Amino acid sequence: MKRLVSVVTPVFNEATVIKQFLDTQLIPTLESMLGDINFEIVLVDDGSTDGSSKIIKEYCAKSTSKIPIKCVSFTRNFGKELALMAGIQYSDGDAIIMIDADGQHPVDAIPAMILRWKNGAKIVTALRKQSTTTHRFGSMMFYKVMRTLGNTSIVVGATDFRLIDREVADEYLRFTEHKRITRGLIDWLGYPQEYINVKLNKRLSGKASYNFKKLFALAGNSFISMSKTPLLFFGYLGMSITFFSLVLGLFILIQQYIMGDPLHLGWSGAAAMSVFISFLVGLVLTSQAMTALYISHIHIEGQNRPLFVVSKEKSVGITKKK
Ligand code: UDP
Ligand code: MG
Repeated sequence: MKRLVSVVTPVFNEATVIKQFLDTQLIPTLESMLGDINFEIVLVDDGSTDGSSKIIKEYCAKSTSKIPIKCVSFTRNFGKELALMAGIQYSDGDAIIMIDADGQHPVDAIPAMILRWKNGAKIVTALRKQSTTTHRFGSMMFYKVMRTLGNTSIVVGATDFRLIDREVADEYLRFTEHKRITRGLIDWLGYPQEYINVKLNKRLSGKASYNFKKLFALAGNSFISMSKTPLLFFGYLGMSITFFSLVLGLFILIQQYIMGDPLHLGWSGAAAMSVFISFLVGLVLTSQAMTALYISHIHIEGQNRPLFVVSKEKSVGITKKK
């Protein structure tokens, strides 16, 4: 039987580019690959306000292409990450490719992705070779920080332009968290990934809706949801301050007030007091970090992630239980 590949495209205010992207890039590429594989396109309108919704709707209703097109339309803007989630939910494919609507993700990489998938890859991720300088600097810093502090290993330059097998998609659909970064969660699932290098194009036209503020928030989300290292850092800092001021305080007490200052250090009362205050500061930091760690546990429970992911490939003699 012919296998089906779904191509999911999130669309938010892309009235100026969506037609061009579909007509000159995505549809011709998919049509040229028809053969042993069928395709469907799933457009997710993420609450556009610029007329994209209407364009898409007409497109789906009237398209003469051999590739069926579905439209999922949100009531309002929920963000790209949730648009991707909806797209995956409404896909029927044996594999799903996620690609942006603005032409930045090069469609010529699709055949290579599908070839890898046919050869057994569960996830094929496009690695970005080049992008604008600010973005590149920003994402470089982001990856550096995440790698140093986070507990998932992140590959530099990994994009959302990916193919995932049905098995991975079904696991992905188990995530219920609201604040998410798709690629981070797909990495979290733990399936082995294959990579292909791509050079990102310039936007066909229009403006990226991910401005610095939104990107910063996105980085913050993934940072908070992936790592508790910063909390631990402040906890350890607090404990060290407490420990050293305690040692120093005891030293002053014994040396000066019990033994009568045999080393002639002549500590002033103010100096002793400041050691005492740093002791208290250390205690406050430590207890704050403890509270934060409790909250982080609540947060992890609240995310309600799948408890584990079973690899069908490596397991033997099991049938899937829901
Ligand atoms: N997008 C979306 N919802 C949003 C913002 C963006 O669905 O709230 C879509 C957008 O239409 C595009 C993709 O996500 O297909 C990437 O967005 P954009 O080009 O603005 O950001 P970039 O990743 O290029 O900085
Ligand atoms: Mg873009």
